[in-house]
Amino acid sequence: MKALKAIDSEIYDLIASETERQRDKIRLIPSENYVSTAVLEATGSILTNKYSEGYAKKRYYEGQQFIDVIELTAIRRAKALFGSETANVQPYSGSPANLAVYFAFCRPGDPIMGLALDHGGHLTHGWGVSITGDYFEPIRYQLHPETHRIDYDMMRDLAKKHRPKVIMAGATAYPRIIDFEPFADIAREIEAIFCVDMAHIAGLVAGGAHPSPVPLADVVTTTTHKSLRGPRGGLILMKKKHRKAINRAVFPGLQGGPHNHTTAGIAVALKEADTEAFKVYAHKIVENAQHLAASLLEKGFDLVSGGTDNHLVLVDVTKRGTTGKPFAKALDKAGIVCNYNTVPFDPRPPMDPSGVRLGTPAITSRGMGKAEMESLANWMARVAENLENEDVLARVAGEVKELLKAFPAPGIPVD
Ligand SMILES: *Cc1c(COP(=O)(O)O)cnc(C)c1O
Repeated sequence: MKALKAIDSEIYDLIASETERQRDKIRLIPSENYVSTAVLEATGSILTNKYSEGYAKKRYYEGQQFIDVIELTAIRRAKALFGSETANVQPYSGSPANLAVYFAFCRPGDPIMGLALDHGGHLTHGWGVSITGDYFEPIRYQLHPETHRIDYDMMRDLAKKHRPKVIMAGATAYPRIIDFEPFADIAREIEAIFCVDMAHIAGLVAGGAHPSPVPLADVVTTTTHKSLRGPRGGLILMKKKHRKAINRAVFPGLQGGPHNHTTAGIAVALKEADTEAFKVYAHKIVENAQHLAASLLEKGFDLVSGGTDNHLVLVDVTKRGTTGKPFAKALDKAGIVCNYNTVPFDPRPPMDPSGVRLGTPAITSRGMGKAEMESLANWMARVAENLENEDVLARVAGEVKELLKAFPAPGIPVD
């Protein structure tokens, strides 16, 4: 980045520091990952210079000879990878992709249904502070109080009673496989649109490590930058009968020109995801999460639902004598980055809840395996016992940095 260094040393230095941070700390935030150098190159390309409002062959500006092919390539690869009838690759990110679904199928005030945020759902599934909870009438299903799995009976009863226009399945903090069939069945019965937001698990679905929602759902939305390991962006997969409504909702409904550099990066990531190596990666993410869960249980941590079948572990840390926020802060000092998170039916406030959320997509991209999951659980136990002991935290941070030398991150130079 010679030009950047010469023109703007301030931003250059900050990027250099962030590069080191990403290299030298263990990233356990389940929505984060490391993209490949190829994805970085496409995303950082001159494609950022081009305006192309509209869709391929129906644009408002000239000069689309190559942009059209890039967008059509991304669509073709998305369809092939996920087996969907068609796709829209223009949403700026996951939240705008979900807004497009509501805008396509609902009017203000219509009921929409999703998993409650404090039970693992996303803001855009109808939470109050989101436009989706303000402009629509949110209906929220929850987890079962004993199993901490989705309460499918509650979901079905609420759907019959309120007849939402859109039923959302998908989560940001749910460690179990989602059974899409009960959603599809009730959506068919009440003639609702069934939308799956697979943002967190898209990479697992692509690699065959989680059942695919694509055959069952009317529409599937996702981010492209989480387990799918692409640039920050959004993607909508859909049945052909919904193409017109969704495409109109994205443009001109919600957005102007698509971010062509991102579209190119998404196309590259989709190509990378359509390989044997990525299938191995997706299964390894789950295996690592299960090893991490087992190791944490051995160390006396309490896990929501008792374990995991995907990329994510939700840990209730209160039985370990701490709470989410101080534990996450101490872990960060020790070189282990995660986020504090509510647990289902959490008696504690959202700003210092009972849990932390851990995920294995990023560390699996660095090639870690079973032995490293055991080290992680050991470190987490040491940190829980030494929350305010700066010496211990610094010592763990040193050990973390040393370990990471053997696990270079994709896209990040070793020195
Ligand atoms: C991350 C996420 C989103 C939002 O994605 P952004 O790109 O941050 O807007 C939406 N839904 C779910 C389930 C997510 O996990």
